[in-house]
Amino acid sequence: MAASLLVRGCRRGPAICSGSWRQLHTIYQSAELPETHQMLRQTCQDFAEKELTPIAGQLDKEHRFPGTQIKKMGELGLLAMDVPEEFGGASLDYLAYAIALEEISRGCASSGVIMSVNNSLYLGPILKFGSKQQKQQWISPFTSGDQIGCFALSEPGNGSDAGAASTTARLDGDSWVLNGTKAWITNAWEASAAVVFANHDKSLKHKGITAFLVPMPTPGLSLGKKEDKMGIRASSTASLIFEDCRIPKDSVLGEMGMGFKIAMQTLDMGRIGIAAQALGIAQASLDCAVHYAENRMAFGSPLTKLQNIQFKLADMALALESARLLTWRAAMLKDNRKPFSKEAAMAKLAASEAATRIAHQAIQILGGMGYVTEMPAERHYRDARITEIYEGTSEIQRLVIAGHLLKSYRS
Ligand SMILES: Cc1cc2nc3c(=O)[nH]c(=O)nc-3n(C[C@H](O)[C@H](O)[C@H](O)COP(=O)(O)OP(=O)(O)OC[C@H]3O[C@@H](n4cnc5c(N)ncnc54)[C@H](O)[C@@H]3O)c2cc1C
Repeated sequence: MAASLLVRGCRRGPAICSGSWRQLHTIYQSAELPETHQMLRQTCQDFAEKELTPIAGQLDKEHRFPGTQIKKMGELGLLAMDVPEEFGGASLDYLAYAIALEEISRGCASSGVIMSVNNSLYLGPILKFGSKQQKQQWISPFTSGDQIGCFALSEPGNGSDAGAASTTARLDGDSWVLNGTKAWITNAWEASAAVVFANHDKSLKHKGITAFLVPMPTPGLSLGKKEDKMGIRASSTASLIFEDCRIPKDSVLGEMGMGFKIAMQTLDMGRIGIAAQALGIAQASLDCAVHYAENRMAFGSPLTKLQNIQFKLADMALALESARLLTWRAAMLKDNRKPFSKEAAMAKLAASEAATRIAHQAIQILGGMGYVTEMPAERHYRDARITEIYEGTSEIQRLVIAGHLLKSYRS
């Protein structure tokens, strides 16, 4: 169902762009993509321009979850993009996912992270490690936007050091009993299920971590307050607090002790999504800067006539395009079943740092208008910053890249 709607959307073909610079930009960008991906990109661009861009500022101001828009994204197939049709997904590849997520985030970065968590962090590990029965139960209802999922790895005492998980899982008869707190969980307030990582044997350290499928709400699980964040304010972030929370014995995802591996492999996939989210924020910043500079007069001519402004725009476009190529390469490696951990880390690092830099420069080009909420530049700057932190900070990406690099020299 979801897949057919998405395909129908793609078949409509390219829409006419509003401005000439936009038109040129769109043609240039899509020239390198297969036709199906070009159509998907146009469909998502149209959706974002119509449904997300006009309300993103208001959603941010009110910290309001975009429920109606997420439902529509589900109907388009955007919430389960690489899930096979038999489980209700769109059966597309990761390149398609990266392209779609960039366009959605270009319209609204909060909608981008909600989409990314449902696709990569919640459905991703269940698709890869779940049994057929688990896929039917925990994937199918989460493809249409009626229900969304979340991923609970971080804790108040450990984020980067995920192997130090202190949340415990104890087997008691036919149930697992969970105790502990998971922190910073995206979609926590709206989620109907979570993939939760807990330690069943601390003596085994990270090999004692197991992944569990937990319905929400459920007795013994409560939510912390919604975090008051700098950016992506239309998505909820909160703690999951487990106090003798009982779940059935068959709630284990994969095998006992496999949790750390599941988490790391999931984050490899997730990083492609966060790279795409960062690209969308960066593109929106560049769009805003070009549009403003073409229309703003200074010393008798538009800002775009000033070489200094042209140099800034050129550097922004260069950083964006380089990061986009890295992101597409990581996605294509995954699609071709090749190792992609290093490339996903490179893509996330390049795209997130580019997004912050581009959003910063966009504010500079707008001058005073960059600093007020009348223009979206300041929101893009706030939204960009998180992409350097979640799903592995920039420092962790550098450790991952260096690890692969040094290994390749030693072998
Ligand atoms: C808005 C938001 C949404 C989030 N969503 C989720 C979610 O859905 N699910 C989830 O599980 N988590 C989520 N997180 C948590 C996020 O993944 C962590 O915040 C992140 O991994 C960093 O962990 P930390 O905050 O504990 O920082 P720390 O790990 O304490 O790191 C602090 C600083 O030390 C540096 N550092 C740490 N270790 C090293 C090292 N070995 N070498 C060099 N530098 C190092 C870090 O790079 C960072 O600069 C979210 C966080 C935020 C803010």
